[in-house]
Amino acid sequence: MAAITPGPFSLLGWVMAQIWQDGTEWAPDGVDACPDIARATTHPEPVEPIRWVDIRKQAGVERYRNGRYRFSGRIKRTYYKPRPESSCRTVVVHQMAVTRKRTSSRWDKVSAHYVIAPDGDILQLFDHTVRLISSNSLDRAPHHAINIEVAGNFEGHDGTGDWWKPDTFGRGRATDRQLLALAECLDHISDSVAAAGKRDNTGGRIELVAPHRVSGRNSKGRPNRPICPGSRVWKAAETWAVEEGIRVPGPGEKYGGLPIGDDWRSDAWRRHIASMA
Ligand SMILES: [Zn+2]
Repeated sequence: MAAITPGPFSLLGWVMAQIWQDGTEWAPDGVDACPDIARATTHPEPVEPIRWVDIRKQAGVERYRNGRYRFSGRIKRTYYKPRPESSCRTVVVHQMAVTRKRTSSRWDKVSAHYVIAPDGDILQLFDHTVRLISSNSLDRAPHHAINIEVAGNFEGHDGTGDWWKPDTFGRGRATDRQLLALAECLDHISDSVAAAGKRDNTGGRIELVAPHRVSGRNSKGRPNRPICPGSRVWKAAETWAVEEGIRVPGPGEKYGGLPIGDDWRSDAWRRHIASMA
């Protein structure tokens, strides 16, 4: 960095020269003189709380009693008998691989208990007692998955450009606010299920947090969700799970899909594994 010598021919130069001459150190006493960075560390900007939006009425089973979407009449939907909330053992995290306008009327057609909207709002679509068709084998006993969809089309490996059909579905990246909302949603689910397990004395609680990748497969049994939810979203979910002491699938562990690759692992998980060795 080059030293700046105040010239004698400008007002600024003259002022600085006076300061240099009498050896005064720069000692601001006014707000205007306070560098932004100092202000930022002492008075952080308040974070807007995550908003919870209940759209269970629009999405709920009573609207599709005949097991079909009303809007298309073609997509079959099976609804199962309600399950006890305390039977839910697993949370599965997804990416929608598409985004929508926040004002879209189609959010309530998503097959997930929660959607993390593009602005970080948490939309609740279904009660935990509703078994959905979202995560293949993990939807069923003994897992009884609760599903979270993060809105957006995300890369399989963050920063590598491996989006699925980016020209159609966009080149998205989960925002920090969405990841914050995801952690808050996971908190809520695990608290709620644990409370239900206490109420009915089953001790039921969330024991596994998994990416859809490990269970996703097609009707022929071939894995078909390799990038759901993508490394960035998964790392955030995994970090939450490790910090809460909740299990995530280990190396090679899968439920009809593909195991979690080493390149999806979070630092929190690596530290956890190292501490067990
Ligand atoms: Zn998925």
